[in-house]
Amino acid sequence: MNKPTKSALNVMLGIDQPSQINEEAVRKLRSGRHKTLSVEEFVRGIREGNRTILSKAITLVESSLHQHQQKAQEIIAECLKIRQSLAIGVSGQLPASSIRIGITGVPGVGKSTFIEALGKYLTGSGHKLAVLAIDPSSSRSKGSILGDKTRMEELATDPNAFIRPSPSAGSLGGVARKTRETIILCETAGFDVIMVETVGVGQSEIAVHSMVDFFLLLMLAGAGDELQGIKRGIIEMADAIFINKADGDNIEKAGLAKTEYSNALHLFPLPESGWIPVVETCSAKTREGIFTVWDTIQDFCAYTTSKGYFTHRRMDQDRQVLIETIEESLKSSFYNRKEISHELKRLEVEVISGKISPYLAAKELLDRYFGNRDS
Ligand code: GDP
Repeated sequence: MNKPTKSALNVMLGIDQPSQINEEAVRKLRSGRHKTLSVEEFVRGIREGNRTILSKAITLVESSLHQHQQKAQEIIAECLKIRQSLAIGVSGQLPASSIRIGITGVPGVGKSTFIEALGKYLTGSGHKLAVLAIDPSSSRSKGSILGDKTRMEELATDPNAFIRPSPSAGSLGGVARKTRETIILCETAGFDVIMVETVGVGQSEIAVHSMVDFFLLLMLAGAGDELQGIKRGIIEMADAIFINKADGDNIEKAGLAKTEYSNALHLFPLPESGWIPVVETCSAKTREGIFTVWDTIQDFCAYTTSKGYFTHRRMDQDRQVLIETIEESLKSSFYNRKEISHELKRLEVEVISGKISPYLAAKELLDRYFGNRDS
């Protein structure tokens, strides 16, 4: 055999490359550990307070995939059954095994510092706390609420706290639905205090108010505009207003703001609950006044439970969700029907040109929709 010549055409032996296959994944596949959980396994895991399974269930709730949605609905239905069965024997009323607290305020008011302070106090006294968020801006800003890992550092590592950032996509209505369902999952997992955080920008407060028992508004003293761009409607919804950052040089100003807000609230009609909103000062930083917040919430629960309002509000919220869901489904079924959108365009032109009245045009479309449905 000829001695190999030095040539560029010679094939050099390569060196061993690491495997492209993830051995761990293969092992998991072979052992069946990758398999998706059944509804029963999900429900059992959630009831046992398994946080990994709870997180996975929330991911299903947040998913827009049809099969995920279906499974999520089955899990939620089971969780609701569990809650119902716990209620048997308690005079037909659901026991208020949890308290749902909505927290709002402009960015920078100290919401996350406050939640951390109150949260640590609660977990330290034996409560289990879940913190959720509704953030309509998150799809644009990539999660301004709870998205930043540096927020609530102490709570994030607390075994009795569970923090879930806002679902990052979708309409406010969609995000609100997901948050409502997440609340049910968290309660089934044994979390007895649920906090839902939102930024003080308007619509999202209304959504949060519609899913909580107690609505807390955090405000700042002397921040220029007395109402800090927070709409009157939001102040009216509050069960308590706490002026945060009442520390250092700010204590006096916070006291003045407290008087101003108390006076302003007197001008509003008494809310349906009969509860007179509390106005107080606190400092999330020094944790001064944080106990007062919890005392206020406890007083609120005792008062509204004795009046029957606590259960009434939850029932009313569920009824509202039922109606909204029907309305949304009808709307999307109507507008997604091909011949309807086609006819709508034609009728729009006729309405604009005055050939047909808007009422007749609407009737024509609705008749067509319901007529088609019956056939
Ligand atoms: P968020 O945007 O409403 O969640 O506000 P943060 O909790 O992130 O707080 C915004 C800033 O205000 C941070 O620098 C906090 O350290 C500070 N802060 C929060 N609460 C207090 C407080 O009670 N007193 C003082 N002095 N600063 C606070």
